[in-house]
Amino acid sequence: MRIPGRRRQGPASCREVGRVLQSYLDGVVDDTTARRVAEHLEECRRCGLEYETYHTIKQALARRRDRVDPDALARLRDFGRHLLEDGA
Ligand SMILES: [Zn+2]
Repeated sequence: MRIPGRRRQGPASCREVGRVLQSYLDGVVDDTTARRVAEHLEECRRCGLEYETYHTIKQALARRRDRVDPDALARLRDFGRHLLEDGA
């Protein structure tokens, strides 16, 4: 089912991706958001790498709770802070 005149949505911005990435990985975002994030991840290397980092951490957590790479966590924190400051 399509609603005409309701497709203002292009790919998500870096900032938006940063905000919803964890929900996206958890599969709890709506279809439109998921598609826009996926489009952005294909275009944006920085967010794509971030996605892979989250993904790796998530898998590590699912497998064993105590083996998360501290460097990866630090990078994630920097990434989030960076997005908020840049307004990218
Ligand atoms: Zn991006």
